[in-house]
Amino acid sequence: MANRRDFIKKAALGSMGISAMVSCKELAKDDEKTEPLLVKKTQKPLIIATWKHGLPANEAAWKTLTSGGTGIDAVEAGVRVPEGDPNERSVGYGGLPDREGKVTLDACIMDANSNCGSVSFLQGIKHPISVARKVMEETPHVMLSGEGALQFALSQGFKEENLLTPKSEEDWKNWLKKSKYKPVINIENHDTISMLVLDDSGNLSGACTTSGAAWKMHGRVGDSPIIGAGLFLDNEVGAAAATGLGEAVIRTAGSAMVVEQMRMGKSPTEACKIIVERIYNKHKNHPDMEYLQVGFIAINKQGEHGGYSLRSGFDYAVYDKDNGNRMEDATYKMTWDEK
Ligand code: ASP
Repeated sequence: MANRRDFIKKAALGSMGISAMVSCKELAKDDEKTEPLLVKKTQKPLIIATWKHGLPANEAAWKTLTSGGTGIDAVEAGVRVPEGDPNERSVGYGGLPDREGKVTLDACIMDANSNCGSVSFLQGIKHPISVARKVMEETPHVMLSGEGALQFALSQGFKEENLLTPKSEEDWKNWLKKSKYKPVINIENHDTISMLVLDDSGNLSGACTTSGAAWKMHGRVGDSPIIGAGLFLDNEVGAAAATGLGEAVIRTAGSAMVVEQMRMGKSPTEACKIIVERIYNKHKNHPDMEYLQVGFIAINKQGEHGGYSLRSGFDYAVYDKDNGNRMEDATYKMTWDEK
C-alpha cells in the first residue's frame, strides 16, 4: 500500500480543485498548522467520497444519478464498486480480516427522509451496503448485526461466499507471526468508503461501508455502521461521514456533530475541523495518540463541500458537472511527525 504513504507526503493544498471554487475565505488565521479553509461550492448534483477508491465509486454513482436513479440508488451503486473489488483491502470482498482471520463487515445507508439501515459484524456477504438498504426498506429496524444480519441477508436472496482472498489470508498469516495490534489508520491497513450525494432536487443521501480495522478483535464494530458516528445527514442542513479510527469517532458522535456545526452556520470544512479538534483534545493524552487518524467529509444544502483530518494524507473524490471527477486533498491539523 505504498500509495497510502504517498498520500501522507502530499501537501494539503497541492491539488485542490481551484476551478471549483466560487468563494474563498480564510477561516483559520489563528491556526498556523492548517492551510486556509476554503469554501468550495459547486452546482447540483454533487457527489463526494472518501479516499482514492472514491473515484471509481463516484463514476458509478454519477452514472446512476444521471440515468434516472435516486440518491439512494446512487450511493448504493457507488460504494458497491470498492466492496466488490478484491484489490481494495479495506472494504468488502478482499478486505483485511480480524485477528482470527475472519472478514467482518460494517455498513450503513441514510436517505433524505432520515430513513436509515445498517449492518454490523456481517460475514460472508460481499455487498453489506445492499443488505443495509434492505434493513432500511424491508424491516421496522435500523440495525442488524452478526448472525441475525447474515440470516436476514440470506432470506433476502443474498449469496453467502468466502470473502477472504488469498492475498488477505497471506497478509493475515504474516501478521500472526507477531500478532501485534496497533491501530495504524490510513498508513497500512484500512480506509472506509463513505459517500455523500446532493441530488438535482437538493436532497441528500449517504452511505458508508468498511471491513474496519485490520486485525481487530473478533466482534469489534467500528463507527462505520453507526448512524451519527460514521454517517449522518439532516436533509434540512447537510451530510457528513467519517473515516479513521472508529473508536474515536464513536466517542464524539462525529458525523452527527459535524452536521450540527453546519446547522449553526459553519461551512462543511469548518464544521469538520471543529469536530476533528474536539477529537484531538479528547485524545491528545491517549497512549495511541501517535497512531490516531480521523477524517470527515461534509456537504451542505447549498452545494458546498469540504474535508478535514487530524493528520496529513487524507483526500476525497468530488464529482460535479462543471469539473468532473477528481481528487481533492483535505485540510489537516498536523503531520504524522507532530505529537
Ligand atoms: N472507521 C473504520 C473503522 O474504524 C476504519 C477506517 O475508516 O479506516 O472501522
